[in-house]
This record gives sequence, structure tokens and C-alpha cells, in this order.
Amino acid sequence: MAERFFAIIDPGRKRPTNQDQAAAVELRDGRVLLVVADGVGGVPGGEIASAAALKAVQRVLAHHDFADPRAALAHAVLEANRMVRVAALEDERLALMATTLVVVTVDGPDAWVANAGDSRAYRFRAGALERLTEDDSWVAEEVRAGRLTEEAAAQHPRRNVITRAVGSEAHFAVDVFHHPVLPGDTLFLCTDGLYQALPEAVIASVLAFGAPARDTAVRLVELANEAGGPDNIGIALLQA
Ligand code: MN
Repeated sequence: MAERFFAIIDPGRKRPTNQDQAAAVELRDGRVLLVVADGVGGVPGGEIASAAALKAVQRVLAHHDFADPRAALAHAVLEANRMVRVAALEDERLALMATTLVVVTVDGPDAWVANAGDSRAYRFRAGALERLTEDDSWVAEEVRAGRLTEEAAAQHPRRNVITRAVGSEAHFAVDVFHHPVLPGDTLFLCTDGLYQALPEAVIASVLAFGAPARDTAVRLVELANEAGGPDNIGIALLQA
């Protein structure tokens, strides 16, 4: 039987390296962990930051007892922040490295979501794709303030400027949000390399087709690359 969760990374067509990370794994007691991370560009070490963050999250959540899922997730994100900063101390060229991070744990009807940066989590339900995260980005703040439209933000020259990232600051405030999950929902995480290449309507149409998780992820990567593949692509999804 096909797994109901899957993760994939792809370099895209334009970038020489891949700084995205993604994981979809089953934890103890059948909980599923979904993660994507996108190393911040413009400074060295993005791929090191995203890999360190993913590793820290997986390590913490593999062993956490989950009596309090909100605390478990917050702890995992703080540990990712700490580990990126520890790695940055080892080489002064890496001092400014950081990464976006989206972490989702799913326990039956409950999903817990935390994020930093402009990678996203969505819930696809009954044909509609709903964003569960708010981008920590300059353009998203302008949209929330009513100074930019979503359409203008998507084309804006500053659309890649993020305002919060894992590893950037010693003190990191983690917000964890709870979202109910119904049978038939898809929880879908992706980096900006996917949603900047493909309109949300296209992502929704692929999810609506209802192919197995692996086929769905592979198809979205193909479509992003057909659209030019301007950036690395990271996807993690779970069909509830
Ligand atoms: Mn990216």
C-alpha cells in the first residue's frame, strides 16, 4: 500500500545547489511529522542551516513524549534555532546563516503547526487550499497592513526578503497553532520555490486529483520545473 505521506526536494532548473530540506516521517504512536526548511540565500551556509534545523527537529520529536504536543513542537523549533547558531559559531563565514522552517505534527484529528520565514503549510479540504501559516516576509507584512495586494506581492522585487528565520536571533518566539484534521484532508507543506512557480489554483488542482502522496509530490515538482524551476523546491505532505 502506498504511504499516505511523502517528502521530496528538487534543485529546480536555475540554482546550482539545493538549500531546501523536507521530511515526512512516522513518529511513535502513529503520529506523523512533516517538515520543510529553506536555507536563507545571500549569505553562505543556507544548506547547512536547513539541514541542521531538520536534523534537530527530527531528533527532538523522535524522543519527545508528546504529553503536551504544543510544548513538544515549540521545543523542537527552539532546538533547531540553537543548533543552527551552534553550527554558525564553528566557522565565521557561516555567522549569518539561517533557514526558514515549517514543522507540523499530526495526531489523528489534530495538527500542530509552527513556522518561521516564508515557507508554508496548507490544509486542502473539499477542493479548497487554505494557508495555515503566515509568511514572515516583508511583502506579507505589507499585504497584512493593506499596502500591497497578494498579486502585487507575488511580483514584488522584495518578495524574497524574510523578516524572521531560524538561526537569526538568539531569542526566538515560537507560536504553535492547532488545526483540526478531517479524513480526506491533505496537509501540505512547501517552500517558496513551489508556490512562487505555481499559482495556488494549480497546486489545488493537483491535490484535488487525489493521487497517492508520492505521485502528487512528484507531479508538483514536474510542474514547477516546467514553469521554469526558478528556485529549489521542497514539499512534504500527508493525506489524512
Ligand atoms: Mn526558496
